[in-house]
Amino acid sequence: MTEKQKTKRTKIKHALESSEFGTGIVVKGWVRTRRGNKNVNFIALNDGSTINNLQIVADPAIIDEETIKRCTTGACISVDGELIESQGAGQSVEVNAKAIEILGDADPETYPLQAKRHSMEFMRDIAHLRVRTNTFSAIYRVRHAMIFAVHKFFNEKGFYNVHTPIITASDAEGAGETFKVTTLDLNNVPKTEEGEVDYKQDFFEKEANLTVSGQLEGELAALALSEIYTFGPTFRAENSNTTRHLAEFWMIEPEMAFYDLSDSMDLAEEMLQFLVTYALENCKDDLEFLNKRAIEEEKTKPQNERNELTLIERLEFVKDNEFVRLSYTDAIDILRNSKPNKKKKFQYIIEGWGADLQSEHERYLVEKHFKKPVILFDYPNEIKAFYMRQNDDGKTVGAMDILFPGIGEIVGGSQREERLDKLQERMEAMGIPVEEMSWYLDTRRFGSTPHSGFGLGFERMMLFVTGMTNIRDVIPFPRTPGNAEY
Ligand code: ATP
Ligand code: MN
Repeated sequence: MTEKQKTKRTKIKHALESSEFGTGIVVKGWVRTRRGNKNVNFIALNDGSTINNLQIVADPAIIDEETIKRCTTGACISVDGELIESQGAGQSVEVNAKAIEILGDADPETYPLQAKRHSMEFMRDIAHLRVRTNTFSAIYRVRHAMIFAVHKFFNEKGFYNVHTPIITASDAEGAGETFKVTTLDLNNVPKTEEGEVDYKQDFFEKEANLTVSGQLEGELAALALSEIYTFGPTFRAENSNTTRHLAEFWMIEPEMAFYDLSDSMDLAEEMLQFLVTYALENCKDDLEFLNKRAIEEEKTKPQNERNELTLIERLEFVKDNEFVRLSYTDAIDILRNSKPNKKKKFQYIIEGWGADLQSEHERYLVEKHFKKPVILFDYPNEIKAFYMRQNDDGKTVGAMDILFPGIGEIVGGSQREERLDKLQERMEAMGIPVEEMSWYLDTRRFGSTPHSGFGLGFERMMLFVTGMTNIRDVIPFPRTPGNAEY
């Protein structure tokens, strides 16, 4: 072996797949565990390329004792050795160490991650280190695979990815839920004669905020490129400390010219099934690990709250079954007559048509009534955004939400109002500043056409695919009220 080859690192994933026994190999990674005795030591090494560890055999006759001692959980090491067929059960290959170099010690007195089960709450407190655990490294690998699959899906369909702005001046969606963007001195805010903040002196010379959705800009692009999608960060200052809301989350927003609402439902269903199938085919080891983890977690829950299906069974189920499509009006009928509604078990009792559906209602439909993903459509216009297309009945709009087991809403979308007069009417009625949105209305003034789109919350999808139950655990660095560390 030449000097050059000797320094070349083999990824643990490839080492585990190799059968070139007897050849030299260099592997680098972080120690998960070390066990052994005076005669021999076994080090479980992981470099993030796979959930599986590579077993390093360290013989005190070859590796000095001091070095072996420093191979503690969390330490980073480089191993120069020989790939051999494993003697023990549980793995097919291992490495006989000829030399071990300690790249970075991890003092066992102070290193927070010991080789035992830690609670998810504890992990959130050390989110800067939690990627070094099996659970979180599996989640991050699956997350990568899902990002890649999103782009693959749309690219293969001929959609164009569009970068919509992160800083915007339009607060079209939810008033009051935005984060302000300003360079004004907050200790000395310039005021107008009327005593209001003088945004003319601010960086953008007007009020600006972080985007809550790329949709409106996505529509501009769709009305030229036909089929586009965005995949970017969105920000909502909603002070809701739930297991399904983040202040910073990633959203996939396709927008399609010439699509009506049902075309859009078809696309969303196909996309979700594609993503699930991709995960099943490409993330086998990680999903098997997460599946076992979820089964263990289920055991800690009361019997009546346990899932009937395992994580992998849920994924297979979504892959193989059509979603239920149900109008809001039919959903209200089902909910009104449901047991938890009659027995007043819901926190919000459904009195009648027009009620906004809460997560408890969505989950009842999906988990108890249909036991399938459900697409609800044609919602009352009163509870939906201004840009959704008015139906002929005068009281509903062409909106659709996709509801998933364990999660509730995962996708929200609509056919957009393409008729200028109807759109303007609605904006005025809802107090949306028509003047400021003139750029948006230009799409309806010039070459307007029916079009539709939706938003998939990427972290909600990640919850479903990984079987995790708190959205803070499927994004590397969660942003929630009171939490913006790292
Ligand atoms: P919810 O009722 O659950 O708050 P929403 O109606 O506000 O959702 P939309 O505005 O339709 O959601 O956004 C589209 C998608 O973005 C949702 O279906 C969901 O998957 C995701 N989403 C919305 N808000 C959040 C959030 N705060 N954190 C993570 N994902 C979110
Ligand atoms: Mn919301």
